[in-house]
Amino acid sequence: MKIRGAVLDRIGLPRPYVQSGPLTVSDLDLAAPGPGELLVRIEAAGLCHSDLSVVDGNRVRPVPMLLGHEAAGIVEAGDTDLPVGQRVVMTFLPRCGSCPACATDGLTPCAPGSAANGAGTLMDGGIRLTRDGEPVFHHLGVSGFATYAVVDRRSVVPVPADVPPVVASLLGCAVLTGGGAVLNVGKPQPGQTVVVVGLGGVGMAATLTALAHDDVRVIGVDQVTDKLDRARALGVHETYTPEQAADVKATVVIEAAGHPAALETAIGLTGPGGRTITVGLPRPDARISVSPLGFVAEGRSLIGSYLGSAVPARDIPRFVELWRAGRLPVEQLVSSTISLDDINAGMDALADGTAVRQIIAFD
Ligand SMILES: [Zn+2]
Ligand SMILES: [Zn+2]
Repeated sequence: MKIRGAVLDRIGLPRPYVQSGPLTVSDLDLAAPGPGELLVRIEAAGLCHSDLSVVDGNRVRPVPMLLGHEAAGIVEAGDTDLPVGQRVVMTFLPRCGSCPACATDGLTPCAPGSAANGAGTLMDGGIRLTRDGEPVFHHLGVSGFATYAVVDRRSVVPVPADVPPVVASLLGCAVLTGGGAVLNVGKPQPGQTVVVVGLGGVGMAATLTALAHDDVRVIGVDQVTDKLDRARALGVHETYTPEQAADVKATVVIEAAGHPAALETAIGLTGPGGRTITVGLPRPDARISVSPLGFVAEGRSLIGSYLGSAVPARDIPRFVELWRAGRLPVEQLVSSTISLDDINAGMDALADGTAVRQIIAFD
């Protein structure tokens, strides 16, 4: 079938992207779903830093690639347990369910899923996208910046119909990554403080999830004062720029900026016995400078968490319940809604650090 989607042809073009145009919205051909795959009509897709990281070359992926990995939509075809008409959340790391990594309950990323993501294919190694007869790679098994997608059943989690498309899309990346880091790794206890360094979509999702805990103090840290204002409006108890935060000490500190300086800040804010949890994806050549002494003398730890160390089929329903109870206002992560044709301007806003979550709404 014919679809429209945003394809990245060249990596590392100069900014502003609205002028260099790394993404081209064009017509593509989408093959029918194979065994264990689904055709999904995309309803909403979010712009995430991991999309920008492919555009700017920080995450090396094969091109041409149809980007987008945070999305939700309606099942239209496919021979799986999910009926036509079912709303699904896309998740950006398919889980085979049988490799040693999958036996770690989300602590280690699925090996075949990671391999397929690196190759730009679906889980069976195949590609369902072509443009003018030439193959176009899938982004993280999703390729959600398009009117339709064919995805592996293991890349989606069904959600009830009362979860709106925008909320559903955010559950798949921002909430699963930032919120999962809080629920699965941080596990704050009553009376403890959670600090989140980097208040983009993932960081803000982490703050919302921390705020859903009773008697937990939540502190936001970011260089952009607009984001601090936004965090306070969402109920974050204290906000600081990195310089202002120097005297803060917390048990759970989440770094969601993907920048080495932010991770150094996060480590510095972690108190005795505390955990620094890093979920951001820095450049491959990024390095940090920290004294190892405090880790030993104060019994601190530094933990990396991919996809919030989540098992999506287990954790997305937990977030849905929090949202339903009014304790996780996921809608508040949306800073603007844009059209697919404005995708390059959206990437500029992401790179500027001014956007929390921009959502592409499809009709
Ligand atoms: Zn993402
Ligand atoms: Zn696996």
